[in-house]
Amino acid sequence: DRLVTAEADGEDQAVEAALRPRSLDEFIGQERVREQLSLVLRAARARGGTPDHVLLSGPPGLGKTTLSMIIAAEMGAPIRITSGPAIQHAGDLAAILSSLAEGEVLFLDEIHRMSRPAEEMLYMAMEDFRVDIIVGKGPGATAIPLELPPFTLVGATTRAGLLPPPLRDRFGFTGHMDFYAPAELERVLHRSARLLDVPVDAEGAAEIAGRSRGTPRIANRLLRRVRDYAQVRADGRINREVAALALDVYEVDACGLDRLDRAVLHALVTLFGGGPVGLSTLAVAVGEETETVEEVAEPFLVRSGMLARTPRGRVATAAAWRHLGLVAPPTAAG
Ligand code: ADP
Repeated sequence: DRLVTAEADGEDQAVEAALRPRSLDEFIGQERVREQLSLVLRAARARGGTPDHVLLSGPPGLGKTTLSMIIAAEMGAPIRITSGPAIQHAGDLAAILSSLAEGEVLFLDEIHRMSRPAEEMLYMAMEDFRVDIIVGKGPGATAIPLELPPFTLVGATTRAGLLPPPLRDRFGFTGHMDFYAPAELERVLHRSARLLDVPVDAEGAAEIAGRSRGTPRIANRLLRRVRDYAQVRADGRINREVAALALDVYEVDACGLDRLDRAVLHALVTLFGGGPVGLSTLAVAVGEETETVEEVAEPFLVRSGMLARTPRGRVATAAAWRHLGLVAPPTAAG
């Protein structure tokens, strides 16, 4: 339920469709991936064939689903969207593969979470556009080969390193998505504001961008909350002051930390002198489960250079002390 989570919630899903860029030209940032992909697609169009399979790796909310839809749109091809966890049996995958149209794009989100038998079926499908359907059980089982039309698999994963090498090797192209720079998020916000018909000035967009953790999905979500505030407590326009006041209400601070993130830092600094302290002790101090602290709060604190995981425990860096408005002791980690 956090406002700053990069995973999509129900409201995001409803609104995101309207905010997705529809072409590579409209897609903001990720210059390298965009250029590489543009070459892959143009070459395929020139050959009159289907593009190679594409792997997109990177954290959630950075535009992997959007890019897969753009690939289909640029090729004038239909797209089918599914995910690794939705494919539990090889039969589930066979059903999808055998119903693909020629040139169709198959988007497989969280491809690293597919079951093993499905994964093995996918190897052959990707390489030879063929699957073996197993009929019967035990010694009497027979494999019936089934030809597939050529298609393009677009796989998405949070980390390419999670994929078994035989799967990774079957992609013709891998695009690594990075977090967005603030200036890129500002462009995302201006574009979304235009589509949502909300007036936002440059400083207002900058204020929201700075709190969006490098993630377009979060930027778009914060924009909607700021819009609510602007409509109820101001004249509907978003400027720096309105954006800052609104996000203070939602407890998303100037660096994009929320209440839980700050509680962790605060406990680390005030109760344990900045650490090192063990994860479970820290979790008890903030009244949360160990997993919540480790998986929900820590990744962004580490990424923003405020918390370090050391063999002796968690340590607050000088940046963490400064962020809380405190003077770091000389011993604080840089
Ligand atoms: P992922 O599949 O990586 O989780 P999505 O493709 O669903 O991310 O993107 C989340 C939202 O962020 C989309 O609704 C889209 O509007 C927005 N978005 C992502 N990347 C961009 C971008 N480069 N330019 C504009 N909007 C973007």
